[in-house]
Amino acid sequence: MALARPPTQAGIGMTSLRTRERMLVRLREQGIKDEVVLSAISAIPRHIFVDEALSIRAYEDVSLPIGFSQTISQPYIVARMSEILRNGKPLQKVLEIGTGCGYQTAVLSKLAKEVYSVERIRPLVMKARGHLRELQCINVKLGHSDGSMGLPDLAPFDGIMVTAAASHIPQDLLDQLAIGGRLVIPVGTEEQVLTLVERKTEKDYRHTKLEPVKFVPLLGGLG
Ligand code: SAH
Repeated sequence: MALARPPTQAGIGMTSLRTRERMLVRLREQGIKDEVVLSAISAIPRHIFVDEALSIRAYEDVSLPIGFSQTISQPYIVARMSEILRNGKPLQKVLEIGTGCGYQTAVLSKLAKEVYSVERIRPLVMKARGHLRELQCINVKLGHSDGSMGLPDLAPFDGIMVTAAASHIPQDLLDQLAIGGRLVIPVGTEEQVLTLVERKTEKDYRHTKLEPVKFVPLLGGLG
């Protein structure tokens, strides 16, 4: 008979508090400085987002498979993108494109008042919903849709985070950014660059290329 998942989010063995603390030390060494982001990451147990067989690797700085040819993002990139989006200030309304298993979404739920996240593969939406319910992330709403179009009915967003690589920045997302808002998105196909777009005024958008990254592609339509 298979054993059920240990009935604790604190975890045991390799998923213990000490393993999680080591991840925090590593994130600081990698240059993550925002204490609010670091404490959000330490509050979210990453091992519950991966299959039990992989949970011993949950606090390594690697992306891991979550099924459907998709992955859970590497802790460093989750921290880095959160830090860029937050820019040292609390976020109000955030849109995430590419929920996957919901790990980044859970971290965002600690950084923003309201979080909306959309995913094109329905079973992943269900999976993420279960994890976010388990963690009682009550300020999150998930949707099954093609995120390239954003969520026009709920715009504007003061933060938009895309967690899949786009060949170009979708115009709909630029339109749905609040003035003063920030969009963080990996751009490129072979070579991808994490890009920050700041909307300064109605028409003035400032683009900054930040660092090379590796994400699964942003795909059109529903999976
Ligand atoms: N945010 C996740 C990363 C998931 S990987 C984490 O915290 O680990 C990226 C996800 O983007 C995949 O689940 C993929 O199915 C989804 N995706 C790709 N293109 C999409 C699109 N156009 N709309 C919504 N989701 C998309």
